[in-house]
Amino acid sequence: MSHPHDHGHDHHHDHDHGHDHDHGHDHSKTFRPDIPDELTYYKKLEIAVRELLIEKGIITPEEVRQTVEAMDRRSPEGGARVTARAWVDPDFKERLLKNGTEAVEELGIKMGPTKLVVVENTDEVHNVIVCTLCSCYPRMLLGVPPDWYKQRAYRSRVVKEPRTVLKEFGTEIPADVTLRVHDSTADMRYMVLPRRPAGTEGMSEEDLAGLVGRDTMIGVAVVDRKTSPS
Ligand code: FE
Repeated sequence: MSHPHDHGHDHHHDHDHGHDHDHGHDHSKTFRPDIPDELTYYKKLEIAVRELLIEKGIITPEEVRQTVEAMDRRSPEGGARVTARAWVDPDFKERLLKNGTEAVEELGIKMGPTKLVVVENTDEVHNVIVCTLCSCYPRMLLGVPPDWYKQRAYRSRVVKEPRTVLKEFGTEIPADVTLRVHDSTADMRYMVLPRRPAGTEGMSEEDLAGLVGRDTMIGVAVVDRKTSPS
């Protein structure tokens, strides 16, 4: 009968069970959380540059770790907080539309060297954002972009036929509403300030934020109190 650990090899009765095989587990190596199993060209480049910057005392490993953790914490929740604040505080909204970069800092969101432009959806205008060139996205407010945002089809078509593309997202914009498409760049990002839905007058800022989904701040969806993300 076959030994359960036999693997079809002729091991006879030695119980070494592959200890002489190399399965790629080299336990003698020091564990490095920043080095993935697969080292690509860019990953190697990143490690080399980072180690040099640390060695030269320009940055510390702690700063790198904190920055990566802060980046991982980013999600559309940040943009939703900004949106809800703008809905309940007209003065904040004015500041936000005038200088997005400065206004979101009031809520602890730092844009770094990137400029934030917030465009407001109204009865007359509906805004949509895109990066036709690549995938620039307001990550500080919305986290990691959805896959479709980076797709060529979205990037090229939303500029030429935004109304049709929005319809594909299930979003119908009335014919008398002007559609404006904003093209992001490396040093400038857009966020759409969606319209506050009717019937939300008595809601708290926190509950309002719960209604605001990612796509509404890209402009491919509108906030609907019935189909809220929460
Ligand atoms: Fe881009």
